[in-house]
Order: sequence, then C-alpha cells, then structure tokens
Amino acid sequence: MKMVIIGGGPAGRAAALELARLENEVILIEKSDLGGTCLNKGCMVVCGLNDVARFLNDATNFQNQEVLKLNYKFSYKNMAHGIKTTLSKIRHITEKETLEAGVKIIYAPAYFQKGLLYVEGEPIEYDKLIIATGGRPFIPPIEGAKNAITYQDILNLEEVPEKLLIVGSGIIATEFASIFSSMGSEVHILCRNNFLSNLDQEVKEYVVKNLLKDIKIHEKVDTTKITRSGALTSRGQMEGLVLLATGIVPNSQLVSDLVITGKRGEIVVNERMETSAPGIYAAGDVIGGMGTTPVARMEGIVAAHNAAGIEKKANYEHLPYAISLDYDVAFLSSGKKSSLDGENYSQMIEGKIPGSAGPGSFWRVLSSNTGFTKTMVDIETGSIQELSSIAPGARYNMAYLSLLMRIHRKTYDFDHFVETHPSTDSIYKLMRFFAKY
Ligand SMILES: Cc1cc2nc3c(=O)[nH]c(=O)nc-3n(C[C@H](O)[C@H](O)[C@H](O)COP(=O)(O)OP(=O)(O)OC[C@H]3O[C@@H](n4cnc5c(N)ncnc54)[C@H](O)[C@@H]3O)c2cc1C
Repeated sequence: MKMVIIGGGPAGRAAALELARLENEVILIEKSDLGGTCLNKGCMVVCGLNDVARFLNDATNFQNQEVLKLNYKFSYKNMAHGIKTTLSKIRHITEKETLEAGVKIIYAPAYFQKGLLYVEGEPIEYDKLIIATGGRPFIPPIEGAKNAITYQDILNLEEVPEKLLIVGSGIIATEFASIFSSMGSEVHILCRNNFLSNLDQEVKEYVVKNLLKDIKIHEKVDTTKITRSGALTSRGQMEGLVLLATGIVPNSQLVSDLVITGKRGEIVVNERMETSAPGIYAAGDVIGGMGTTPVARMEGIVAAHNAAGIEKKANYEHLPYAISLDYDVAFLSSGKKSSLDGENYSQMIEGKIPGSAGPGSFWRVLSSNTGFTKTMVDIETGSIQELSSIAPGARYNMAYLSLLMRIHRKTYDFDHFVETHPSTDSIYKLMRFFAKY
C-alpha cells in the first residue's frame, strides 16, 4: 500500500519506520527538520543544556568541599553552538536511518486543497494517511506577549539572562528554571495556579526545597503585560527576560476541514488512532495527548499498524515521566485503582526510603541531598499503585518499572531481583521489602 505520513517528528518517524518494515511504499513529508520538536527544539536541547548545568552544579559542590579548585569561564554562546552542531549530527544519522529503512523523505510543507493533499503544487496520492504534525508553543493572550521568548528561541540567546521570568507551572518551566539558575540567572517562576500540580505533594516539596532552592516560585499570579525587560503581574512589576512555558497547541490547522478536532484544536482519534475520516490516522502531540516522545512514538506505531490492517490499541496505563533537574525526578502516571486486573485495593501501604550513596549521589551525602523514593502498594495482592523517585538515573529505572506494571508484575516478583552495586536505584529496595509480605 502507499502510505503517506505528514511530520517527521517522533510520531511520524516511528510510523514511517514501522510501515517500511511492513513492506509498504512510504513517503514522509517534513516541512522543516527531521526529528521534530524532540530533537531540534525540545528534549535534546534540554538534555544538552542540562548536562552543562549539572556539570556546573558538581563543580560548585566539589569546590565547596575543597576537593577541586577551579577557575573556569562559561560561554553560553559556545555551548549553544556546540548543541546545535551535535543536533545537526544526530539529524544526519536520523535521516540516514530513515532512508536506509526504505522511506522516501520529501522536505516541504504539506497542505490540502479541496480535500486533496499537495506538496509544492503537486498532488500526492495515498491509500492511508497519518497526520503527525506535532504542536507549537501556546502564546497566551497577554499584552506584549511577542516580547517574550519560548523554548524555540533558547539556543539563539547570546548569553545567560541576568534575570529570567518563566511564565508556566509544568515540567518545561521547571527544567528551564533549574538550568538557567545553575548557569547563574536569577529565576522567578510565575504560575497562574499551582506549581507542578500533577506531582505527589511530598515530591514537589522536596523538589522546591532542594532542587530549585535558588528559584523563587510565585503561585496564583496573573501576568498582564510583557515588555522586553520585564512583566507586569498581579504582584507588581518584575524585571527580567520573559520565557513563556505555557503549553503546546496542536498543529492541526491543515486538516481542520477534513477531520473532527477538539476544543484545543487536537485531532480527535480513537484508541486505534483513527480520525473521523476513513483512511486518515493521527498520532503524537497533534492529538493533544501526553506530550512526551515515547508516547508519540507508541501512537505512531499504533497508527502504522492499524493503517497496515493490523489491529492494535494504544495503552496509556502506568506511563513513566521524568523531570531533568540536578537529579532526575521520575514518576508513574497513576493506574486506575479500581480497574487494574479487576482487583480490590484494600490494603494500600506507603513505603518511603531516602536515596542511597552511589554513582552520582556520593558527594551529596554530606549535604543530605540524595533524594528519596516513595511507593504505594497493595500489600494483599502485591500490586504497585504509585511510585515516585528522586535519584540520579531514576528516569531509567522508572521506565523498566513501568513495563513491569504494564505486564502486571507484583511486588513478590522482586524476590528474584539481583541488583548491581553500588547503585542509586532505591526502587528495588522498596519492592524487595514488600516482596516479603
Ligand atoms: C522544551 C521541550 C522539552 C521537552 N522534553 C521532553 C523530554 O525530555 N522527554 C519527552 O518525552 N518529551 C519531551 N518533550 C515533548 C516532545 O518533544 C514531544 O512530545 C514530541 O516531540 C512529539 O512528537 P510529534 O512527532 O508528535 O511532534 P513533533 O516532534 O512536534 O513533530 C512534528 C513535525 O511535523 C512537522 N510538520 C508540521 N506541520 C507540517 C506540515 N504541514 N507539513 C510537513 N511537516 C509538518 C514539523 O516540522 C515537525 O517536525 C519536550 C518538549 C519541549 C517543547
């Protein structure tokens, strides 16, 4: 079959690779850079910045403990250049991998006219179409919002802003706050409601107190005007460069006449990623879902399979999330307590242990800053219900635990667990403790 995919981000590329593997003729249309937001403006940019921010934090810590005496000069411009060069190399590898899989890539914007798909004036025919056009920054209706920057502008800054006002209260706002604070900015986070409201309260308190300790977090603040040098808020005038981290809007305009969209412009799909139009599927941020790369990829693969005639449904249970701060903060989306395996959760018990000394945390033991891991399990059935972990490497451990939960493994399965040592993974310790019951 002839399969056409619009958008070469995680969702579109995963769909394209899967459809090529299933021996279809595959055309991937990308208007900008392969890899989408994740590679070019989002995850990998934060990753490049955070590696430097963590290095600076370590350097300060080693200096404070008189282990190192350093005299260094940090250049934001050179760092941004280094990140851009690395991204272009990854893009090149990504393109090679895509082409070698047998996918034809067209670099141009796709658009529709009278229901037909076009690229550069040429109609493109297809048997099945997958829309994976992602999202763009949401710009709130605040006077002067054009004076603010968004995540798309981060690598074009010439230097670290002396003062940074981040409007937003989610993961992206938090990560940029941590990064720029480590690089020397005075950072304020302006939340219209509550900061990190999806996080477990105790985890949030630890994060605020220990991982964002130099950052001022203002909750329930309205930002009413933005200028080049500051913002007018319900708490008065504040000075600094304004960064909007106020969410993502789906890029669904190109198909808004073809498929049903929701209130926020998201393309409405069922669990097979089918839109309201026969033969047209959608996946990733354009369906306004979880807003993470692994979920976008999963949805891309689900769309590809169904387009190819293989029935598959997306499974959103127990998804892992991570926030990249000086330590990883990782957690699982909570499962539905009443539906999983049809069990009754009668004996819920909380377990919590402090982070251990190990790679990445050893030199934080003296300052008692090693994080913690916390879980909620049903002692009767061994079902793991909630889990959060603040530790170096927590993001990796959480993904494996998510798999175990998705395949309905229980605490008692951890009786067989043999860890590596030393390790900062406290999850196994908690699970092995509960395995005894
Ligand atoms: C600052 C930031 C940090 C993030 N960090 C993380 C993280 O650490 N971990 C994580 O899991 N997720 C993270 N995310 C989220 C992640 O980047 C997205 O969830 C993911 O990129 C969504 O993939 P997608 O394929 O749906 O869309 P995108 O990656 O947005 O890709 C869509 C593609 O479609 C193309 N396109 C759009 N319209 C057209 C058109 N008309 N014709 C042709 N092409 C078109 C675009 O150019 C783009 O390349 C982050 C996001 C941001 C903004």
